[in-house]
Amino acid sequence: MPGKAIGIDIGGSKMAVAAVDSEGKVIHQVVLATEAGKGFSRAVNRLSEAIDGIMARVSSVPGDWEGIGVGCAGPVDPEQGLIHNPFTLTGWDCCDIITPLRERFGLPVFLENDVDAAALGEWRFGAGKRLNPMLMLMFGTGVGGAVIRDGAFYRGFKGGHPELGHISIVPDGPECYCGMRGCLESMASGNAIARAGIGIGCVDPSAVFAAAQNGNAAASKIVDQALRAVVIGVWSLCHTFLPQGVVLGGGIMEARYDLFAPAIERQLSHATQFAPSSITVARSTLGGNSGTVGAASLAFAARPPGQ
Ligand SMILES: [Zn+2]
Repeated sequence: MPGKAIGIDIGGSKMAVAAVDSEGKVIHQVVLATEAGKGFSRAVNRLSEAIDGIMARVSSVPGDWEGIGVGCAGPVDPEQGLIHNPFTLTGWDCCDIITPLRERFGLPVFLENDVDAAALGEWRFGAGKRLNPMLMLMFGTGVGGAVIRDGAFYRGFKGGHPELGHISIVPDGPECYCGMRGCLESMASGNAIARAGIGIGCVDPSAVFAAAQNGNAAASKIVDQALRAVVIGVWSLCHTFLPQGVVLGGGIMEARYDLFAPAIERQLSHATQFAPSSITVARSTLGGNSGTVGAASLAFAARPPGQ
């Protein structure tokens, strides 16, 4: 009997909890405000109550619970199960999320960086199926990335998650909190586009894109800079990892994939260090569910091969 798993996606403003079946379909999902500043224990209690409610609601759906996967805005320590993110989750430093959930539900619990989890979801169920290696880039309020090779995450020292949103694009670009100027996140994230749009009266990235489409020269300049940064970033990362395919996700790509993908493909067609047509570019197919489905994939991925 195929199983099902709980996927939890924790972001700075919202937490989503979902029951996901072994085909990657969301059976039922609830979304809560994170309210990180009110305390980690309180958040774990609210998540646990949400899991109780979801388990009771989908008890009639066949299949055992295989586990609970948590994707969380990083930094996280997947090996120790610790969240170290006081930057966007106020006060959450060295917080153990695995032990309380494991003790309460008696299931295996897994923790990963949220972009790693989303990438695993795309690789297992979505646009990244059969791509090896697969490069995923998420353009939301920030920019994150992940590489999956032979079904495993690319890791750094002490199991660290590669920070692909902070590769440098423009030497004298906007200052970034990472310690560098002009990195991909500071040029092409939702926050970066929104910040640049303030000066021309645009309230958010959608307004900047709309103004550019309507012929506003200043808005077009902002969009062109973001577009160029994405093309350069993908070009550099393709030469670093030589992926079979690149999956693009996050709110910016969901809204304007048709603008970014052709520009990336055009640039890749000029490559001389690998076959120009060898790297495919695809849009995330899990979309808004990539966080929870990806987190649930962590539990499915723990299943022994062939089962
Ligand atoms: Zn940066």
